[in-house]
Amino acid sequence: SSAFANLTILPPDPLFGLSARFKADTRANKVDLGIGAYRDNQGKPWILPSVRLAEKKLHADPTYNHEYLSISGFEPFTSAAARVILGNSSPVIQDNRIVSIQSLSGTGALHVAASFLKQFYTGSDAAPTVYISKPTWANHIQIFESAGIQTAFYPYWNDATKSLDLEGYLATITAAPRGSIFLLHACAHNPTGLDPTQAQWKQIISSIYAKGHLPLFDSAYQGFASGSLEADAWAVRHAVATQPQDSTILICQSFAKNVGMYGERAGVIHAITPKFNKDLNAAISTNLQKIIRSELSNPPAYGAKVVATVLNTPELYVQWEKDLVTMSSRISTMRRALKAELEVLQTPGKWDHIVEQQGMFSFTGLSAREVQRLEETHGVYMVSSGRASVAGLNEGNVKRVAQAINEVVV
Ligand code: PMP
Repeated sequence: SSAFANLTILPPDPLFGLSARFKADTRANKVDLGIGAYRDNQGKPWILPSVRLAEKKLHADPTYNHEYLSISGFEPFTSAAARVILGNSSPVIQDNRIVSIQSLSGTGALHVAASFLKQFYTGSDAAPTVYISKPTWANHIQIFESAGIQTAFYPYWNDATKSLDLEGYLATITAAPRGSIFLLHACAHNPTGLDPTQAQWKQIISSIYAKGHLPLFDSAYQGFASGSLEADAWAVRHAVATQPQDSTILICQSFAKNVGMYGERAGVIHAITPKFNKDLNAAISTNLQKIIRSELSNPPAYGAKVVATVLNTPELYVQWEKDLVTMSSRISTMRRALKAELEVLQTPGKWDHIVEQQGMFSFTGLSAREVQRLEETHGVYMVSSGRASVAGLNEGNVKRVAQAINEVVV
């Protein structure tokens, strides 16, 4: 009669378990294509030059300290974050139709969104369900389920064609109970690296609105897909520009990848209403803050101050845009290099999808067995779904990775 009779040991988290195996591997030429974190051409973590400059500026400020932030976070950070995702001249900002609250990076924003929707969302015909792409970032499902919101999938990746299953996607939007919640990857879809085209997004978003569904954008890679903050925000801005009168849009924004602030947990949740309503804004804001207060009291300050300095200092913003190009173009170069090496080796299969996909990841099409052999025989680590973090490739290892892939698929 234990007080915790149902407590069992869980398997390690697939991704962080992979990281642990990689760290424990003593082979000198091991390659980490697991975790989605940018690496430079030497395979090392990269502090963005814009971040280095921001940190210097911050520490030189005589008023700098480690006091608590307010519950809603660092305002210069959250307001600048809204401008990054929506654009400087967005009518949403001009009309004050947005509530922006700091979160524990993207995960925390999603969690706050889930708690908020669980408590207050009354827009659905049935018990609210969050529709999530199949496949998706594994954490999505448990974030919503642990908040007590049920999840369902919409088709996304067509394995046979290695392209978007638009028909299945649209059919699911139309069949879902009115007022369902659709979780949308703003760009650089994880794990597939496949984003809808602008024409496809138009169809997706208009179908979502036609059924009165609530779009919930997960923006974890803005600037990483194309190198352009504007291009990568296209879907979000299109949804905002076509927002119907009775709808709300939620955006969960992470600066982990695009500012390289992974461990500093800098994120924001934004709620966008269709017209200015002071009382509604205040109700949303105070209730989001109540969630934050009970869970973390107030958010972490350091990352928010660094990111705010980058975003609010014109020279640093320009440097950041260059840093995004540095990261995204190195990743594209590695996509082309991997494809070229596989073609030289005449590895069976077609590898065009590696260069057609964008963002941090490539959905290689390798099977779980092939991935296991890559790890065991070659010390090349990737997620069992065949998702490879392209950022882990560099000029020094791409040939070896191609040879390893060639060996496991032949
Ligand atoms: N959404 C997606 C799709 C992601 O890939 C990630 C990071 N792996 C996140 C959200 C959130 O990451 P973080 O909490 O580090 O901002």
